Amino acid sequence: MTASAAFLCEDCGEILRLSQGAVHVRWLRDREHVAREVAEHASSGLDTWMVEGLAYLAEHRGHSISVITD
Ligand SMILES: [Zn+2]
Repeated sequence: MTASAAFLCEDCGEILRLSQGAVHVRWLRDREHVAREVAEHASSGLDTWMVEGLAYLAEHRGHSISVITD
């Protein structure tokens, strides 16, 4: 599982490619609330891909997000 994965918003057609495999990217989508909790309490901050992913999910709130792989 080294291939990168991406979020695809089925409503906007916008893609965000993340430097993580599908397992991680899918986890972030399905456990967004957990990731935000972690973000609030992590003193060292989140990994870049998580920050990017959460920003994307916030932007596309209520939309249908798929995880796609290469
Ligand atoms: Zn969207």
